[in-house]
Amino acid sequence: MMDLNDVAALVTGGGSGMGAVTARVLAERGARVVVLDVNLENAQHTAESIGGFAVSADVSNGPSVEAALQSAIDEVGVPRVVVSCAGIAPASRIVGRDGPHDLDLYQQVINVNLVGTFNVLRLAAARMTGLDPVSDSGSRGVIVNTASVAAYEGQIGQAAYSASKGGVVALTLPAARELARFGIRVMTIAPGLIGTPMLLNMPDEVQQSLAGQVPFPQRFGEPQEYGQLVLHIVDNEMLNGEVIRLDGAIRLQPK
Ligand code: NAP
Repeated sequence: MMDLNDVAALVTGGGSGMGAVTARVLAERGARVVVLDVNLENAQHTAESIGGFAVSADVSNGPSVEAALQSAIDEVGVPRVVVSCAGIAPASRIVGRDGPHDLDLYQQVINVNLVGTFNVLRLAAARMTGLDPVSDSGSRGVIVNTASVAAYEGQIGQAAYSASKGGVVALTLPAARELARFGIRVMTIAPGLIGTPMLLNMPDEVQQSLAGQVPFPQRFGEPQEYGQLVLHIVDNEMLNGEVIRLDGAIRLQPK
């Protein structure tokens, strides 16, 4: 188990939903948490509530994340735990009523969800390689990415989102293989339906219908359950290069 006391951690998308809860559970274990979000006000709100530090950055932008990471390092040190939760999920059909899928929108989703995840991983890993190992096996740190069950069974209207999350799934093993020589593990969580603002802002009947599709337990997952899985991944050194579904056995239907 990694002693998280005074260990620096970085959580992207930490201003909301699963990222905010993950920032809290890491702080409760003693980590010095940097909350990164494109929305600085939300990041500050999370950071203030957990005694953390807020930075604003767009994960899809190289210089933006480099600058945010540097100010995080100046404040708390080089993160040994990095959790990528930043993401967007706009729905659009490939051929809709108004014509073909907007190409800019497709590129934006790929940029934020896939390029953004890789951008954070590459910059954080480069810094992590300079840290001293903290376990007998030479562990320097762990990077946890967030995909989605839509990577496997994307619904109609999720072409961009599913493709972006499929990329995050495919990135996991080669990243883990490459960073193994530095003692850096790479894992991905693929959540199903989790009760964050994204889902809870939907109409009640839509929420009930979605929750009813989860075999067991028949409800949305709690962001806290995602945070607990992150903690387990941090603690369990044999977890590496794998994608874990957190979904109550749901398999999304076409629509
Ligand atoms: P959320 O509550 O919307 O949180 C995502 C956060 O990321 C928001 O604060 C958002 O800011 C921020 N963000 C968006 N674009 C960014 C960028 N370019 N740079 C930095 N931050 C950015 O969503 P969530 O439900 O917690 O989702 C967390 C992750 O889990 C996402 O990757 C999502 O795709 C994935 N996921 C969610 C579910 C679910 O059921 N909730 C299921 C499967 C996978 P703004 O609010 O300003 O956009």
